[in-house]
Amino acid sequence: MRCPYCGSQEDKVIDSRTIKDGAEVRRRRQCVSCGARFTSYEKVEDIELRVIKKDGRREGFDRNKIRIGIQKACEKRPIASEQIDLVVERIEESFSQDRKEIPTREIGEAVIRELSGLDEVAYVRFASVYREFKDINEFMDELKGLLIDNNRKEVSTEDKTKKEPPKKPKVKSDNEEQ
Ligand SMILES: [Zn+2]
Repeated sequence: MRCPYCGSQEDKVIDSRTIKDGAEVRRRRQCVSCGARFTSYEKVEDIELRVIKKDGRREGFDRNKIRIGIQKACEKRPIASEQIDLVVERIEESFSQDRKEIPTREIGEAVIRELSGLDEVAYVRFASVYREFKDINEFMDELKGLLIDNNRKEVSTEDKTKKEPPKKPKVKSDNEEQ
């Protein structure tokens, strides 16, 4: 790296340590020409999350767009803006784990999922705009689904996932072959 004192590009690293939980490396360097010491910081470039639109075009993930959509749905509802921030954060986090591209449909569904746990009116508002219900029947089905979901919430979801897999009839087909 170019020495900030004399401009020489020859230096040697005399100390190297990770900082900020491994997110950055800090290196102490010494210029070979003039002997001055200086510091450099290295960090991983952020991976930009991209959104795949319905027509296949890509655009940068825009958390503000999501926020505005949720805000509209939550208008005049007893929901603090901090709660909306948390929802947006959770949605963003759920996507940025190991993926670089997310279809808009998945983002919409994620918002609907989050809103269903936050406020029923906001949920129905968002879902009705997002899913463009064709008629009142479709809308009623959605409402019914919401009511059923709410009843299920009282049953521990952990138990459900643990009990279900053994019921699958894989063993049966083994027996039939014998
Ligand atoms: Zn130098």
